[in-house]
Amino acid sequence: MLRGATRAVRTSCRRAPSALRPRAAASIPAFVPPHPPLRGLPSRQHRSFASQAIVEPGEEDEGASADVLPRAEHAVISTFDLFSIGVGPSSSHTVGPMRAAKIFVSDLEDLGILDKVRKLKIGLYGSLAATGKGHLTPEAIMMGLEGSDPETIETSTVNSRYAAILETGRLQLNGTHTISYSHDKDMLWRMEPLPAHPNGMRFSVFDDEGTLMATNEYFSVGGGFVVNEQTQVDENLYYRGIHKQEVAESRRDQAHGLPPDALAPLALPPADNAPSPNAPVKAEQPPQQQPPYLFRNAAGLVRLTQQHNLTIAQLVWQNERAFLSDSEISEKLLNLWRVMDASIHSGVSSTDPELPGRLRVRRRAPHLYRRLFKGFYPSLLPSSADSNASLPPPPPSSSQPLTLAHGFNFSAPPPASRTNGAPLVVGSFEHPLPPTPRTKGQFPAIDWLSCYAIAVNETNASGGRVVTAPTNGASGVIPAVLKYLIEFISDDPERDIKTFLLTASAIGMLYKRGATISAAEGGCMAEVGVASSMAAGALTACMGGTPSQIMQAAEIGIEHSLGLTCDPIDGLVQVPCIERNSLGAVKAVTAAQLALAGEGVHSVSLDDAIEAMRLTARGMHEHFKETSLSGLATAVKIPLSSPAC
Ligand code: SF4
Repeated sequence: MLRGATRAVRTSCRRAPSALRPRAAASIPAFVPPHPPLRGLPSRQHRSFASQAIVEPGEEDEGASADVLPRAEHAVISTFDLFSIGVGPSSSHTVGPMRAAKIFVSDLEDLGILDKVRKLKIGLYGSLAATGKGHLTPEAIMMGLEGSDPETIETSTVNSRYAAILETGRLQLNGTHTISYSHDKDMLWRMEPLPAHPNGMRFSVFDDEGTLMATNEYFSVGGGFVVNEQTQVDENLYYRGIHKQEVAESRRDQAHGLPPDALAPLALPPADNAPSPNAPVKAEQPPQQQPPYLFRNAAGLVRLTQQHNLTIAQLVWQNERAFLSDSEISEKLLNLWRVMDASIHSGVSSTDPELPGRLRVRRRAPHLYRRLFKGFYPSLLPSSADSNASLPPPPPSSSQPLTLAHGFNFSAPPPASRTNGAPLVVGSFEHPLPPTPRTKGQFPAIDWLSCYAIAVNETNASGGRVVTAPTNGASGVIPAVLKYLIEFISDDPERDIKTFLLTASAIGMLYKRGATISAAEGGCMAEVGVASSMAAGALTACMGGTPSQIMQAAEIGIEHSLGLTCDPIDGLVQVPCIERNSLGAVKAVTAAQLALAGEGVHSVSLDDAIEAMRLTARGMHEHFKETSLSGLATAVKIPLSSPAC
């Protein structure tokens, strides 16, 4: 009967005992799940939830009691699970729900019951209900139910496909089986979260007679990862995919590869598996069964690099060999960069004046990009005859070699025109303290970083293709810093792209295990704060920093974002999100510079900061965790455009 995590059931909703009803089920018409509600997250796998303490054996966490879990697992996941190609605007509210819906219908197909489905109910709980509309959660779920995947969906078709579903009342499950669908009746919004996590979804399907055929709950835990209610283990907590059967166990189960004394402070690679540090690296090696270098925290990671004479990026590469060949690792890393670069290109070249949504936020990336070209002589630039002179060249394709300045615009854009008649100076020159005339001060590095980051986040906010790094809301920080690195600093872009992404992913893994990368659990410090920390460490690595300096940069990157709230206005990933990425990128560069100027000796370790982040997340009021119930979301009264009606 069981296949995947979705259960086929015969329970009639009319006969189900009331004792089995979950807290919110009573208010859901014609829905009774056949299993008791999830009351907690008892297994070790849920250490990534920020509200739950994780302690080493023997340690005690003040203030924690029932939620103290044994620390028995490591932090290692695949870089290509931490970074994934997705669709905007939110990894937890768009990518995760689309993936969950796709998993659900795929399971129905595998169970052989898809073609018997006549009715579908979708429940959105907690943060998904609070801000789902602004984050395009309904659109994402519809696309997933129709069989689309975040990585491959054609983003330009989402709006028209969604509109067609609403207009016709027809939904094609997994692209093959059409049912009727009423958006008003079949999508249920429940502000009260399910007990397990703030981002809950429940899918249920019924047959001709209204009998419940199958049901499942999913939790979108940040970064596009999805956890299944029933098993809590073998869904996408550590990997991002649809069919778990196709995923190697070592990607699926975080407990893999640990020796029986897994509670030791440092997990060393199994002797039989670990390559000798001095062994020559072969050009091509068959995938191994499990990653050799397992680490739990920053201290353990640094120790491994020292013991095996590997950089952090090399160590992560060695771990990736458990899943992929060298050529696959290389190609996937470069492909991540291509998508990142394309998201910058898309943002700076957009001709839409505004972003979607009621806020009518003006796009800034095209203007910022043009502004950066003031002072260039168009006639001296190589591609001035190109009719698309104002646009950067297309992102590199897989067949093109990466060059030092790839993606850089050699042609001058048209001059920006003044759009309003606002005076340049406000104030009286007759005053003892005269006003300051406008000064054309330029901070080129900051301007480029801001432009790149804002471009990515405007692409994201408009539902475009981005890399979740580690989330969509924070998807501009890492591309901005990496773009700046390869355009203005690097003498070997390909090496630096790989080093940057692998180092960043190692740092991201530490946060995913030790705290959270979900704004619904930890506010914006879990998104932009973590992205800034990852970028700071990665940039330090590409500037020749030691592992200790990399960790210090990462620590500085998060330390000054602790407590950063998530309070998007109108539930849209626009204000403050877009600017916040620009600040996150600048902060990352500052952190890297500070770390590189030091000796790697610092009073707050990255592990301390991650633990502080977990405690901060636990203490934050839910109003500041992606619910838009306080902060900027309620303090700012931005006039909204006229509603459609
Ligand atoms: S405020 Fe931060 S965490 Fe919240 S939606 Fe915006 S970018 Fe994401």
